[in-house]
Amino acid sequence: MKKQGFSTRAIHAGQEPEAATGAIMPPVYLTSTYVQDGIGADRGYVYSRVANPTRTALEKNIAALENGAEGMAFGSGTAAIDAIFHLLKPGDHTILSRNVYGGTYRIARQVWEEFGLQFDFVDTTDVQQIERVIRPNSKMLFIETPTNPTIEISDLDACVRVAKAHRLVSVVDNTFATPYLQRPIDHGFDIVVHSLTKYLNGHSDMLGGLVVVNEPALAERFRFLQKSVGGILSPFDAWLCLRGTKTLAVRMRQHCESALAVARWLAARNEIRKVFYPGLEDHPQHALAARQMSGFGGMISFDLGSIERADSFLKRLRICALAESLGGVETIITHPSSMTHAAIPAEERAAIGITDGLIRISVGLEDVQDILDDLEQGLRT
Ligand SMILES: *Cc1c(COP(=O)(O)O)cnc(C)c1O
Repeated sequence: MKKQGFSTRAIHAGQEPEAATGAIMPPVYLTSTYVQDGIGADRGYVYSRVANPTRTALEKNIAALENGAEGMAFGSGTAAIDAIFHLLKPGDHTILSRNVYGGTYRIARQVWEEFGLQFDFVDTTDVQQIERVIRPNSKMLFIETPTNPTIEISDLDACVRVAKAHRLVSVVDNTFATPYLQRPIDHGFDIVVHSLTKYLNGHSDMLGGLVVVNEPALAERFRFLQKSVGGILSPFDAWLCLRGTKTLAVRMRQHCESALAVARWLAARNEIRKVFYPGLEDHPQHALAARQMSGFGGMISFDLGSIERADSFLKRLRICALAESLGGVETIITHPSSMTHAAIPAEERAAIGITDGLIRISVGLEDVQDILDDLEQGLRT
């Protein structure tokens, strides 16, 4: 059968009409356990930590969008990332992108280093930087592209070549791009991880995380971790996210279109020192982004030069909300150095370009002229 298009899969994958009534939406299976027909005769479900039909629907749905075989959902993006580090043993070494999500940095440095895992954070936009730190005990390459918040792009094909040559488990945090814009498994990556909290759900009303893999042994290990460690997604949150993924394609198209307009507008302003957006021709990886992504995404950062200017700008905004998180229908503005990336020491922050004047904007789905008008009045002093 011909493979269905992205939106058709987004709307239907993992979701058959319910058998008893024909309900077109999968029910929220609010149950902890399942009655069995006899000894050893369950109907595929035994206990909701192990599996729940609403969660299964979401796991199948997102695996289909990523062109992966199986998905495993967790209670948050960080819980999913934690499950990935559970694949390692004391003494194992992992190489990560230098400006991964702040929570990924925190769990590596402040949780897993205590248990003997070793981490190096390097500029993965340059694969030579990865090769330079590979050691005999290196086991994993964990990249984020685009990164948060300086919007750097790593080359998926080049990274996977290095990982395969050195037998590293390869991981991409695909939260910023979503499977609509880029599908790392098609490039040969072993694991794709998401914070569902962001674009996949898209409505700022739940938290969740999910890993997608192709390899059956990896899927089995993640299912074992769901069952054993228990950081699983609730059925209701799975249901909310299923509703979100149905409109992923149309939302992402608009996020990309509006973000490009906002980025161009910001780039034309004198009071802004620097705009980070891969859709701008002067972005260092513009050509790479155009090649490996089918759009440039909804995330922009820009530098106002000082914390005082950032503060007065943020206080004046009326539509754009000052908050953590991203990927919702509403425009959300963040101050990374004091919010999402506060766990990173100041010197390290400076080295990776997270200055005190840096502002990150998740361009929402409001009318773009209203967003521009709000930014305009925010910049007025
Ligand atoms: C938010 C985020 C996470 C963490 O997800 P939570 O659902 O907040 O735990 C991980 N990676 C990226 C890129 C994120 O933006």
